[in-house]
Amino acid sequence: MPDYLLEVAEAVREDDGGAVADYIPQLAEASPDTLAIAVTTVNGRTHAAGDVDVEFSIQSISKPFAYAAAIMDRGLERVLRTVGLEPSGEAFNELSLETGTHRPKNPMINAGAIATHQLLLGEDADEDARVERALDFFSRLAGRPLAVDRAVYESEMATADRNFAIAHMLRTHGVIAAAAHDVVDGYTRQCSITVTAADLSVMAATLACGGVQPVTGERVVDAATARHTLAVMAGSGMYDAAGSWLTTVGIPAKSGVSGGLIGALPGQVGIGAMSPRLDEHGNSVRGVKMFERLSRDMGMHLMQPS
Ligand code: GLU
Repeated sequence: MPDYLLEVAEAVREDDGGAVADYIPQLAEASPDTLAIAVTTVNGRTHAAGDVDVEFSIQSISKPFAYAAAIMDRGLERVLRTVGLEPSGEAFNELSLETGTHRPKNPMINAGAIATHQLLLGEDADEDARVERALDFFSRLAGRPLAVDRAVYESEMATADRNFAIAHMLRTHGVIAAAAHDVVDGYTRQCSITVTAADLSVMAATLACGGVQPVTGERVVDAATARHTLAVMAGSGMYDAAGSWLTTVGIPAKSGVSGGLIGALPGQVGIGAMSPRLDEHGNSVRGVKMFERLSRDMGMHLMQPS
């Protein structure tokens, strides 16, 4: 496996297509050449190649994990009253809501993730408590204490007008109750939690294991919530490329603008990848290629009979 993963990484190393995200100034500072792939099996062994210890902000990959935490905290029914389940087919930061219900379409786009962040813990929680909840939950998924990268957080807050606009839209329709500024502040700190590709593969493996962290053995997510979260990732996890991803790669996944990418194949593996240059959909160019290769070589496709 380690030799194989090295080969998977080396096969894409020279590909310099795409561009590092720069709408968050601090992300533009990332080395575009960072390249990592890690696979964690359901018995807790992680195999990795490349820069697996390089830390980066989790960004949108926080969305499925925060969604699972919100369901654990508030119950699925309450969460579904606030955030829908349908793929949006729109850009991740679109200002749009379902007609009629005024719910954000799903928790994997910013509108849905900002609303989901506000559900953490309960109605009386403030922004610090919600961020602490996300940090504790993510740390238990990773099996080590994680932290917020202040520089990334401050950089994004200085340029977060679009997310403020989304939060004000949500408040106008009663989707969030707390002040728009506070919710965006907490959500931005959630996105600024730093991880490595190895952390991501263990976190994803926890969902693949039905919610049991395969290294520590802790049940972090209940089985129904883990399954529900993977289903939402399968439908909406890859921005507006989710449909083609599901047919070609067939692994429930979530990408983020810093170049991270996770995938989780139920009962089999969690995968974490990192490569900062993004394609036109906002997905990591080399990350997508490595996933395509794994899916093809290892028969890692949801629709593949085992
Ligand atoms: N914090 C980023 C934002 O809200 C996350 C976006 C992403 O990774 O897609 O713009």
